[in-house]
Amino acid sequence: MSTTYDVIILGGGVAGMTSAIYAARANLRVLILDENACGGLVNWTKVIENMPSYTSIGGMELVERIQEQVEALGVDIEEAACIDSIDLTGEEKIIEADDTIYKAKAVILATGRKPVPLEVAGECENVHFCAICDGAAYKGKKVLVVGGGNSGFDESIALLDQGIEELLLVEKMNRFFAAQSTQDELTSHANATILHSTEVTAVSCDEKLESVTLRNIATNETIEYPCDGIFVFMGQQPGTEIFQEQLSLDSDGYIETDELMATSLAGVFAAGDVRPKKYRQITTAMADGTVAALEAERYIRSLAG
Ligand SMILES: Cc1cc2nc3c(=O)[nH]c(=O)nc-3n(C[C@H](O)[C@H](O)[C@H](O)COP(=O)(O)OP(=O)(O)OC[C@H]3O[C@@H](n4cnc5c(N)ncnc54)[C@H](O)[C@@H]3O)c2cc1C
Repeated sequence: MSTTYDVIILGGGVAGMTSAIYAARANLRVLILDENACGGLVNWTKVIENMPSYTSIGGMELVERIQEQVEALGVDIEEAACIDSIDLTGEEKIIEADDTIYKAKAVILATGRKPVPLEVAGECENVHFCAICDGAAYKGKKVLVVGGGNSGFDESIALLDQGIEELLLVEKMNRFFAAQSTQDELTSHANATILHSTEVTAVSCDEKLESVTLRNIATNETIEYPCDGIFVFMGQQPGTEIFQEQLSLDSDGYIETDELMATSLAGVFAAGDVRPKKYRQITTAMADGTVAALEAERYIRSLAG
C-alpha cells in the first residue's frame, strides 16, 4: 500500500503537533507518524505552570487539547507506528512504516529526545522512565530511582505520592544536582533514602525484577538491594540513529538546522528538542514547529511554481 501526503511529520510531540496545525491550516495534506502516542514528553509531566493561557494544566490534558485541534483540522495520525525505513535524500521523501509506504514532498523531523537507558538492566520489564505513567503499579512496593538531578528528585516525590512503600534514590557522582528545596522535600519523607557516589552494577531480573547490585564508588563496597521496580532518570539523548547516514548531526547527535529549521537536505526540516539548543521547553518546541511548517509550506509552493 502506498499513501501520498504534502508533509509527513515524524514525531507527534508538541513540536510536531504545532507543525501539523500550521501545515493543515495552509491546506496541505498532513500525516503525523509517532512510534508511541502523540504528546511525547508532555504526557510525562504532571502539572505545567508555564504554558501561557493556563495558570496550571496537567500534561495529559494539554496533549488532549492540542490533539483535538490537530484532528479537527483533518490531519491523519498513525500512532504506535513502527518505522522500517526512511529515505529523505530524493525530491520525493519516502518513509516505510508498518508495511505501508508513505511519500511526501516535505518532512518535518520532530522526534524529540529519549531517556538514557540503564544498560545493565537489559530488557527487564520492571524498568521505567516516567513516574506518572507507571508509578501506580508499584503502590505498596519497593523501588529504586537512578539519577540525582531535578528529574530524579521530582519523579521520586511523584512516586511517593502514589503510595510507594520504600524508595531508594542513587546518584553515581559525589553529590546531587537537584534544587536544594526539592532535595529537602524528598529527604523529609520517612520512606525515602538517598545515596550519592553509588552506581548500579547489575540487575537480577528473570521473569520479574528481584534485586539490584549497588557499588559505592568511594569504598568499592557492594550491596544487594531487593526491589520491585526501577525508575531511571539519567538524562535524555536525541533518537536520531535512523537519520544519521542522511542528515548533518552535531557531535551529540542532534539534527543541525538553520534558524528557519532547514536541515542539510532540501525539503527536510527539524523542530523541537531534537535540534541543538540551550532551552528545551514546550513553548520553544512549539515555536520551532511553527517555523518548520511555514517553511515546509514555502518549500512545497516553490516546487509547484
Ligand atoms: C520530566 C519533564 C518535565 C518537563 N516539564 C516542563 C514544563 O513544565 N514546562 C515546559 O515548558 N517544558 C517542560 N519540559 C520540556 C518539554 O516537555 C519538552 O521540551 C517538549 O515537550 C519537547 O517537545 P518535542 O515535540 O520536541 O519532543 P517530544 O515531546 O520528545 O516528542 C517527540 C515525539 O516523537 C516521537 N518519536 C521519537 N522517535 C520517533 C521515531 N523514530 N519515529 C516516530 N516517532 C518518534 C516520540 O514518541 C514523541 O511522541 C519537561 C520535560 C521533562 C522530561
